[in-house]
Amino acid sequence: MKVARARDFGLIGCRTCGLANVAAAGSCRRCGTPLAARKPASIGRTWALLLAALLLYIPANVLPVMYTSSLGTGSSSTILGGVVDFWHAGSWGIALVIFVASVAVPTVKFLVIGTLLVSSQRCSSWARLQRTQLYRAIEFIGYWSMLDVIVVALVCSLVQFQFIGTAEPRVGIVFFGLAVVLTMLAAMSFDPRLIWDAPAARRMGEG
Ligand SMILES: [Zn+2]
Repeated sequence: MKVARARDFGLIGCRTCGLANVAAAGSCRRCGTPLAARKPASIGRTWALLLAALLLYIPANVLPVMYTSSLGTGSSSTILGGVVDFWHAGSWGIALVIFVASVAVPTVKFLVIGTLLVSSQRCSSWARLQRTQLYRAIEFIGYWSMLDVIVVALVCSLVQFQFIGTAEPRVGIVFFGLAVVLTMLAAMSFDPRLIWDAPAARRMGEG
């Protein structure tokens, strides 16, 4: 299928107000936003944010995210430790929610953003439609990524209401929250139009 791009007609859509401008204009003639055919330095920025998120995801998993104590005995648990604890305690639902929100989803997001970056850098024509759909899925999941932080908060309040004991968040959850935010920013800084660019168009695209 042959599709004409705006730039084939010397046009660039304003990313703020949507007006189609003459590419040579430099800034939008209606709202003044600087014109760029693609998000500036999209691939470099997305790589940087993704790598930073990956780095923070390590302490998020190694350090404890929660401290619980009841009747004098206390213990700190990591994300995976918490999943195992809840599973053994028979709370399979909570264990599953924590596993999906803090292990499965972030891992899938890292892999998808990495795949999008590598394939776009190579101007690959492989599975373009599917890659675009993956991007949309990642963008949608982003809104729900704070679920795990909310789960920890919920668990803490549940423990305090239901048992004689205390539960407090620990520093690991801060790293997890930062990793989630950086992953969301990485997804936002990636320009999905790069998926559809032909190699020849790329040189003017990244400017
Ligand atoms: Zn505009």
